Formats: sequence, C-alpha cells, structure tokens
Amino acid sequence: MMEKKLKPATLCVQAGWEPKNGEPRVLPIVQSTTFKYDNTEEMADLFDLKKEGYFYTRLQNPTNDAVARKIAALEGGVGAMLTSSGQAANFYAIFNICEAGDHFVTSNEIYGGTYNLFGVTLKKLGIECTFVSQEATEEEISAAFRPNTKALFGETISNPGCKILDIEKFARIAHKHGVPLIVDNTFPTPINCRPFEWGADIVTHSTTKYMDGHATQVGGCVVDSGNFDWETCTHIDGNAPLPSEGGKGEAKFPGLCTPDESYHGLTYTKKFGKMAFMTKLVAQLMRDLGSIPSPQNAFLLNLGLETLHLRMARHCENAQRVAEFLSQDDRVAWVHYSGLSTDECHALAQKYLPNGSCGVLAFGLKGDRQTAVKFMDSLKMIAIVTHVADARTCVLHPASHTHRQLSDEQLREAGVAPDLIRLSVGIEDAEDILADLRQALDQIG
Ligand code: PLP
Repeated sequence: MMEKKLKPATLCVQAGWEPKNGEPRVLPIVQSTTFKYDNTEEMADLFDLKKEGYFYTRLQNPTNDAVARKIAALEGGVGAMLTSSGQAANFYAIFNICEAGDHFVTSNEIYGGTYNLFGVTLKKLGIECTFVSQEATEEEISAAFRPNTKALFGETISNPGCKILDIEKFARIAHKHGVPLIVDNTFPTPINCRPFEWGADIVTHSTTKYMDGHATQVGGCVVDSGNFDWETCTHIDGNAPLPSEGGKGEAKFPGLCTPDESYHGLTYTKKFGKMAFMTKLVAQLMRDLGSIPSPQNAFLLNLGLETLHLRMARHCENAQRVAEFLSQDDRVAWVHYSGLSTDECHALAQKYLPNGSCGVLAFGLKGDRQTAVKFMDSLKMIAIVTHVADARTCVLHPASHTHRQLSDEQLREAGVAPDLIRLSVGIEDAEDILADLRQALDQIG
C-alpha cells in the first residue's frame, strides 16, 4: 500500500518485501515446495480460494510473490505473477484471455521467439493471430480485427529493430474493439516507460534482460493494470468502480466471466473484481501449466531490481554515445537508436521515453554479410552472445542467430534487415566500449 506513493528508485530498492519487527532485512529465499498446516479444513479453504495462503510453490511462494509485488508496484499494476521465462510470460498473457477458436492482433515488430510462439505454436492450439505493421494507420490495423479477436499486442521497444510502439494509438484501437492491449515492456523497463500510464492493460516482461541485468537467470513476469473490465469489455479509469453485472464479457471472455468448472463453478470477475485476470492466471494457468521460477532465481532477480534505476540510466548514457559515434563513421551504413535526433522513432521516444530508452541499438555496416561477420569476430571486449540487456556489452547478428528460423521475407516483415547487427551497450566505461568498436571497424577497412 505504501508503494503507490514512492518514487521508482525507492520502489526498486524497497518494494515487495517489507519485513516486520525482527524479520530479515533482506528478502529471504523460501526454498520449500510445501507449507505445513495443522488441520484439514485450513488447507481445504486455501484450495477453494476461500482464504489466502501458501500451500504449494507451483501456485505461490513467498519469495516469488515479494518480487512480483515489486514489479507490480514499479509498473503501477494491481498484481503480477513471475514466470520461468519471458516466453512463458507472453504465452500466459495471451492464453489467459484466448482459447481455441480465438484470434488476436499483434505488431510484427516483435522478438523472434514471440513471433514463432504466436505464429506457429499458438496456431497449433487453435489460437490464430494476424501480424500488422505498427506504423500502419488506425483504420488499417482495425481491419485486422475479427468478431473473435480478443487482444492486441506490441513491444514498447522492439527487439531487435529498436522501433518504438505508439502505445496510445494501439490502446485506442484495442479499446475501440473492446479488447485489452498487452505490451511487452522488456527493453525500457518501468524505469523508462510505464505503459499503463498510456492506456495499456497488461504488461509482460522478460526479466532475463535489464531487470535481472547480470545474465544470471531466465525469467518473466505478467502484470495487470486492473483497468480492463472483462464484463463490459471496456478500459476503465484506474479508480473507477467496476460496473456490476452482465456485460458482453460472458460471450467474449468466458474464461474470466463464466464459471470455472475446475474451481467449483467460481467466476473470476464476480469473485475477484480487479484481480480477476491475476487470480485466473495463478489459480488456473500456473496450477495447470506450472512454469514457475525457482525462489533462488526470484531472489537473484530481486537483487537485480534493486539497482535497475541506476543501471538503466548508465545503459542509456553509454548507448547514446555509441549511437552518435557509429552514426558519424563512414563505414556504418545506418544506425537505429531512438535517442538520435535523426532517428525515425525520435518523436515517439520523446513522448514515451523522455528519460532514455534502453542500451540496445541496431546498425548495419556498408558491405555484405561477411563484413558484419568480420567486424563481430574482430571485437575483443564486446562478446558475441545470444543475449541483450545485461551489464556487459554484447553483440549479435539476428539473421544468423536468434531469427535464423525466419525466412528472408519474414525477417523483413519483423523489421530485421539481413545486415542488422544488434549491439547491447553495457555499463562499462564508454571510452572502452568505443575503443573496441573503433578497432573492429578498422579491421574491415
Ligand atoms: N520479449 C522480448 C522483448 C525479448 O527480447 C525476449 C527475449 O529476448 C523475450 C520476450 C523472451 O524472453 P526469455 O528469453 O526470457 O524467454
């Protein structure tokens, strides 16, 4: 409760775990699968969701919950759930709303793994999606909606194209069609952008990235704003009371608005109000699918979160210097970094990311694919790794690595040029990063 009033930097350090008198100052790792009760009835009440409490870590664990509370506070949401990966977070966010026969619309400027999940794997479960260009007009994007469309999805800053989502535009389109906007906010983190303030309803994260920040563990998170009313299918102001009975939701979002037979006929919206989405996510999906992080990993994530505000500022400062350096070098064909005044996303960045975007930038070299390979192989301190957004500067060629399963046409659709090099600028001394880039550029001519 105290969390709403505190500034993001304080939330990074203090939110989630508020020790009582005599309790450990540092978040304890509750490395236990189970929790003990003295009588049968107490445990039965927990199973029936009549009481809150811990009984099995697949559903809830005190360490995991404390970290989820911190992320919810940072995003300004009503609740959050940790998952074992960012992939799981995006899957759960969609699957909590959509079932076989449903459809959703997504920007095509999204992470390659998410592109596959949406376009291939969800299709096998009977959930279809339509990929749209996020730069298209509201009318063009609206044309992709069908009567069975249940959500709109986008990434605040796309991986790897570094394009900025016009969140307000996407929110308008989603709400006009009576569906929630889900935004993957992995790259800016809530330090640099809080999508709920621009109308998004649900936020997802790969906490593997900046939130952990040290490349120690894979994880994800789903956060709910509590601002989408599933019964009436409308986005509501954060403080407005939920309209009571009988909207369109029974037909549109039956999973949330009609009785869940696996919970003795309980209806999530009726019993949990603004916590309906979160409760279903945990009590039904996590119960049945079980992609939880270990409490040990949640503890490591929390350590990362404690310095997130400091690291994001340094990532942005270093990336700005690197982007300016690359954009002035003759051997570089192009650079995408929204902090550059010449960047096509600069105006959107000024609106949504006034304090900086993130440390990731994309660029291409003059020459062919081999030029990119030679440049990357010449780097000394900057490593080639399948990762972004940790303390150490690293580089990747998506067409050869993360996105290699996509055809050239799909690559272009996903905003990934075959020559695109993704550089994730770390928090080392900027001079050392620039020196390594300079010497590698000298190797190519
Ligand atoms: N979302 C974005 C924007 C990502 O960049 C990634 C991974 O790179 C994911 C989701 C998937 O996250 P994870 O690797 O933690 O499963």
